[in-house]
Amino acid sequence: ASRINGIKSTLRIISDFPKPGMLFSDITPLLLDPKAFKDTIDFFVERYKNENISVVAGIESRGFIFGPSIALAIGAKFVPLRKPNKLLGEVISENYDLEYGSDCLEMHVGAVTSGDRALVVDDLIATGGTVCAAMNLLERAGAEVVECACVIEVPVLKGRERLESRGKPLYTLVDIV
Ligand code: 5GP
Repeated sequence: ASRINGIKSTLRIISDFPKPGMLFSDITPLLLDPKAFKDTIDFFVERYKNENISVVAGIESRGFIFGPSIALAIGAKFVPLRKPNKLLGEVISENYDLEYGSDCLEMHVGAVTSGDRALVVDDLIATGGTVCAAMNLLERAGAEVVECACVIEVPVLKGRERLESRGKPLYTLVDIV
């Protein structure tokens, strides 16, 4: 519990970003605290090290901050799930709805294959739309998604329920109101 509180205490809440009236959880102060940063990675490594996970899929961009350290520690490959037109090889794409407008994630064809056991990593889950798009990409490539792991959860936006309704567990460290 004290390690979780240590992580939570580093997070900075920014008002009126990205739009007036909205709150944004800034994780960059967590990265400035080596103990809190290491504790964050360690929680995930402890949970997944014996789960035969073969691929950690990190969501652009802050999933790239946490995902690779977890992948290296558990002996999994790391696959970036990127915004459109960033990956240079052949890709598959998933469009998904945001509160305002829509977005898209892409994954390289061949990076993930059938039989892979996947962990989805991002910094924060709000509505769950982003991790659901990530799971769609992985499942289309034939992987089994074992779990989604995020540092922060915004429970009022009900991402956990959205994942539950498709039978997928969510693991998060810190709740933000
Ligand atoms: P969702 O698709 O679950 O509604 O939104 C989650 C996605 O938006 C994640 O990729 C996350 O990085 C980003 N996001 C939304 N709100 C915040 C926030 O307050 N802080 C951070 N760090 N990321 C956010």
